[in-house]
Amino acid sequence: MAAMAAGLRGLGGRFRWRMPAVAGGVRGAAQGAVAGQRDYDLLVIGGGSGGLACAKEAAQLGRKVAVVDYVEPSPRGTRWGLGGTCVNVGCIPKKLMHQAALLGGLIRDAPHYGWEVAQPVPHDWRKMAEAVQNHVKSLNWGHRVQLHDRKVKYFNVKAGFVDKHTVRGVAKGGKEILLSADHIVIATGGRPRYPAHIEGALEYGITSDDIFWLKESPGKTLVVGASYVALECAGFLTGIGLDVTVMMRSIPLRGFDQQMSSLVTEHMASHGTRFLRGCTPSQVRRLLDGQLQVTWEDHTTGKEGTGTFNTVLWAVGRVPDTRSLNLEKAGVDTSPNTQKILVDSREATSVPHIYAIGDVVEGRPELTPTAVMAGRLLAQRLFGGSSDLMDYDKVPTTVFTPLEYGCVGLSEEEAVARHGQEHVEVYHAHYKPLEFTVPGRDASQCYVKMVCLREPPQPVLGLHFLGPNAGEVTQGFALGIKCGASYVQVMQTVGIHPTCSEEVVKLRISKRSGLDPTVTGC
Ligand code: FAD
Ligand code: NDP
Repeated sequence: MAAMAAGLRGLGGRFRWRMPAVAGGVRGAAQGAVAGQRDYDLLVIGGGSGGLACAKEAAQLGRKVAVVDYVEPSPRGTRWGLGGTCVNVGCIPKKLMHQAALLGGLIRDAPHYGWEVAQPVPHDWRKMAEAVQNHVKSLNWGHRVQLHDRKVKYFNVKAGFVDKHTVRGVAKGGKEILLSADHIVIATGGRPRYPAHIEGALEYGITSDDIFWLKESPGKTLVVGASYVALECAGFLTGIGLDVTVMMRSIPLRGFDQQMSSLVTEHMASHGTRFLRGCTPSQVRRLLDGQLQVTWEDHTTGKEGTGTFNTVLWAVGRVPDTRSLNLEKAGVDTSPNTQKILVDSREATSVPHIYAIGDVVEGRPELTPTAVMAGRLLAQRLFGGSSDLMDYDKVPTTVFTPLEYGCVGLSEEEAVARHGQEHVEVYHAHYKPLEFTVPGRDASQCYVKMVCLREPPQPVLGLHFLGPNAGEVTQGFALGIKCGASYVQVMQTVGIHPTCSEEVVKLRISKRSGLDPTVTGC
C-alpha cells in the first residue's frame, strides 16, 4: 500500500506545470498542438462513470491517455474524490443507505421468525454515514490505483478548452497546465439544479450532493421533487425513521409507467412518507430556533401552506456541467434549451475528434451503465478497430424506493401511443412475496406487468416489476427482452420456486380479460 501511495504521489510530480507563455497562454499552446506532437492520444475530461471507463479501455488498447477530474464543491461546501456522481453522491451511497432502510424492515420482521430483538431499534445516522463515506473513499482510492496501474495520467484540475485540441487545467491552488490530445472526450456529467427563483433555496437548502455526506442526521426533511432522486432519498430517510414529506408539483416519476409510479408512491405513503401533491415551494426562511420554515402554494386549493423542517432537500433535476468548459473555443455545439452537448450516434460532437458521453449529452439516459458502456465502445471504435455503436434502446433501470421498481422497454402508455390500444396486450399480476407472509407484511403494491404486442408470438415491449430486489429481477429479464423475447417464450421459461421473479414467467391474466390478477396459492 505504501509503495502504491508513493507511486501515486510521484504521478503528480512528474508533470510539467506550465504557466501560460503569453497573456492568457492560449495562442502559444494552440500553435504548439499539432498532429504528432500532441501530449496524448486521448484526453478525457471528467473522471466519472463514463470518463474512467473510456480512459481505461483506451489505455488497455495501448494508447497514451490522460484524465482530468475536478469536483467543484457544492454550494454547501461538500466535496469528494475521484469517481464522479455515481461513486460519491449517487448510486453507491444511495444504494447503501437504501440497504440501511431495508434492514430496518427486516429487523421488524425478525421477531416473527423467532429472533428476540427488542423493539424499537434506534438508528444512528452518524454510524451509517461514516461507514458509507469510508466505503466511498475506498472506491476513490481504488479508481486512482486503477488509473495508475493502466498508466493513465490523472490530473486533479478543472478543465476548459483553449482550442480544438488543447485544454487548460486549473488546480485548486490556481496552478495551470495545458494539455493537448488528438482525441478529446467530454464526460463531465451534471450537478443538481437549485431553484434559484425561490427565496432562501440556495441559502438554506441542500441537494443530493450533500445528503450522503452529512455528519448529522438531516432530521425532519422536506424533499422537493418527485423523480428518481426525490423518491429514493425520501424512501431511505423514511426507512431509517425520519419524518419525511415529499412535495410534488405534478406526477411522480415522469416518463415511467404511471400505474407503476402510482403504486410506488402509494407504498411509500402507506409506510410513513407524507406527500404534498400539486404544491410548489415559494420561500424558505430560517427561524430563530434554527428550523426552516417553508411556504408553498397549493395549486389544487389555491391556498398557501407552511411547514417547518430541519432540512430542505432540492431534488428538482440536474444541469449538465458544461459552463466552465469554454466549449465555444473548440466549436462544440450544445442544445440551447438544456445546454447539453449534441452528439451523433458515434458520440461525436460538432467537432469530429471531440466526443461526449454520459449525463452531459443531450437525449441520453442519465445512468451509470449507459455512460460506462458508451465510454468503452467509444474507445474501442477509436483505437480498437471496432465499429460497434452504443445501443440506447431497451435500457433497464430500477428506482430504489423502499419497494423497488424495475423496468425495461416501453411503459403501457408508450406502447399504446405507438401501437394503438387494440394491438397491445398487457399481462399482469398482484403477488405476495413468500417472505412477506410470516411477518404479515402488506403486499398490496407488489405488482408485475408485461406489455406485449397482441399479435402472436406477442413480442415483449416492456416489463415492469414492483417488489423486493426489483433490480436483480429486471436485470435478468432485460437480456431476454433485449434479444427480442416474445410472451410465448417467456411462458416457456421454467420458473425458480419460490421467488418473486417466477411471477414474471407465470403471467397468465391479461388486463383485457378483466379477470382478477391476484395470485393465489403457489
Ligand atoms: P459523472 O459521474 O457525473 O462524472 C463527471 C465528472 O466530471 C465529475 O467528477 C465532475 O466533478 C467532473 N467534472 C465536471 N466538470 C469538469 C471540468 N470542467 N474539469 C474536470 N472535471 C470536471 N445511475 C444508475 O445507473 N443507478 C443508480 O442507482 C443511480 N443513482 C443515482 C442517485 C443519485 C442521487 C444521482 C444524482 C444519480 C444517480 N445515478 C444512478 C445516475 C449516475 O450517477 C450518473 O448517470 C452517472 O454518474 C453519469 O456518469 P458521467 O460519467 O456522465 O458523469
Ligand atoms: P428528473 O429531471 O428526473 O426529475 C426532476 C423532478 O423535479 C421532477 O419530479 C420534476 O417535476 C421536479 N421539479 C423540477 N423543477 C421543479 C420545481 N421548480 N419545483 C418543484 N418540482 C420541480 O431529476 P432527478 O434529479 O430525479 O434525476 C436525474 C436523473 O438521474 C434521472 O433521470 C436518472 O436517470 C438519474 N438517476 C438514476 C437513478 C437510478 O438509476 N436508480 C437514481 C437517481 C437518479 P415535473 O415532473 O413536474 O417536471
